Amino acid sequence: MKDGTGRIGGEQRAVVIGAGFGGIALAIRLQAAGFQVTLLEKRDKPGGRAYVYEDEGFTFDAGPTVITDPSALEELAEAAGRRLSDYVELLPVSPFYRLCWEDGYAFDYVNDQSELDRQIGAKGPADVAGYQRFLAYSRDVFREGYEKLGTVPFLSFRDMVRAGPQLARLQAWRSVYAKVSEFIADEQLRQAFSFHSLLVGGNPFATSSIYALIHALEREWGVWFPRGGTGALVRGLIRLFEDIGGQVETSAEVAEIEVRDGRARAVVLKDGRRFAADCVASNADVVHTYGALLGGTARGRQEAKRLASKRFSMSLFVIYFGLRTHRPELQHHTVLFGARYRELISEIFKGRELPGDFSLYLHNPCVTDPSLAPPGMGSFYVLSPVPHLGNAAIDWAVEGPKYRDRIFDYLEARHIPNLKADLVTSRIFTPHDFRDELNAHHGSAFSLDPVLTQSAWFRPHNRDAEIANLYLVGAGTHPGAGVPGVVGSAKATAGLMIADAGLAV
Ligand SMILES: Cc1cc2nc3c(=O)[nH]c(=O)nc-3n(C[C@H](O)[C@H](O)[C@H](O)COP(=O)(O)OP(=O)(O)OC[C@H]3O[C@@H](n4cnc5c(N)ncnc54)[C@H](O)[C@@H]3O)c2cc1C
Repeated sequence: MKDGTGRIGGEQRAVVIGAGFGGIALAIRLQAAGFQVTLLEKRDKPGGRAYVYEDEGFTFDAGPTVITDPSALEELAEAAGRRLSDYVELLPVSPFYRLCWEDGYAFDYVNDQSELDRQIGAKGPADVAGYQRFLAYSRDVFREGYEKLGTVPFLSFRDMVRAGPQLARLQAWRSVYAKVSEFIADEQLRQAFSFHSLLVGGNPFATSSIYALIHALEREWGVWFPRGGTGALVRGLIRLFEDIGGQVETSAEVAEIEVRDGRARAVVLKDGRRFAADCVASNADVVHTYGALLGGTARGRQEAKRLASKRFSMSLFVIYFGLRTHRPELQHHTVLFGARYRELISEIFKGRELPGDFSLYLHNPCVTDPSLAPPGMGSFYVLSPVPHLGNAAIDWAVEGPKYRDRIFDYLEARHIPNLKADLVTSRIFTPHDFRDELNAHHGSAFSLDPVLTQSAWFRPHNRDAEIANLYLVGAGTHPGAGVPGVVGSAKATAGLMIADAGLAV
């Protein structure tokens, strides 16, 4: 197949900037479709938010740990004529999460219906039937919002209008929490079934009830963890990409996307290397892409200004720590709800300072895969959602170590006795690191806040409106953050790029 330059299709050069899950998934799809793909990553390892730290024999997955919708990953491998299981082994996790409150109440969120009913019934008998209605709603949204629209590029407003009747029927303007509360009366159960939108950066009190689909997605396919950690999944996908002929360059920070006559022509690295391209896709933060990489163009400056005025999702404060003791009594995934829910979340999304209290997520992967720590030891991370830097200009160099100590005190008092005595190693990742390491606008952990007015067509599109061969992929595009989200965005973007290049899908 020939393109406008007379080059045969198989020789079309695509450059993908950023090796997060979205960039990697896109690179695989493009390479499989016949492009010659170069994947450029700023850091010394691929993965993006799914980076891996290795300290004193401990392996710490930096970001995603709750792997849902393995079928999207299997489909990605199949698009390249491969089997995912040849590259990575996924292990089931149960319970999906243990949810703990400060009054001592704990709820094991499992996939077994009778066990769920038993726990819900013990808390609020009327909520057993209410939960069934919530599940039916969640499954309905899942079919409409995820299965039908999750990998569709919303390029024109017509696409949005077409989805309108379904969005109206599902009351997409209501928040996740409001919708859950329609079905469930008990406040702790309301929290148990509404916190999920936080996993993709959405405020349960403001994010569209469409995000209730996460519950159905987890019930449908379960929660998984790659043997060797999420980093093993990243490495597996990179190996697959290289096996089919793709090229990866790490420590390759892009400084500029060269644009001439309305088309992207090349990508230039900070170190001066230049990669000529027939098309370019950016998996980097959307404001960074337009403001820095396209800052020399009127289009870049204008779009960066428009995007910078949008609402951004919260940031995170993360502590990775290794203990000389394994803690099998803690589940793989634990959510520790603080005393306040609505008020705390409001302060995290809108507040001007660091809240005095916190809610935490605790990761204890060694209960699923002990190889992530030296024998008999435990590798952990704990994260606390915090305001992004645009809302709260916290000096994390000063506050970070103090905040870490507060969180350690809390964990030691309530959940991990002798934590400090058993501590072998720890490191922190703050909103400054999201900003400086990952080029994230305001240090947001999840890019644009996924409210309805910033979703689907209202989110940055998978193809730029003016630079015809420039594309976006990842959390800042439709459908949004989370591993399934960005893998879905890669499918949408790849479809456009392949069609635009005249290659067969
Ligand atoms: C702590 C944490 C926990 C999470 N937990 C979960 C979870 O359990 N489950 C889940 O599904 N999701 C989770 N998420 C969300 C999920 O990790 C992200 O939404 C998703 O991984 C983002 O992928 P992405 O494709 O948008 O790219 P990113 O991971 O954001 O990667 C973008 C890449 O671009 C690179 N880059 C930036 N600028 C340049 C440049 N100029 N030149 C070259 N490269 C550049 C960056 O270095 C980075 O590697 C979590 C996120 C965080 C932060």
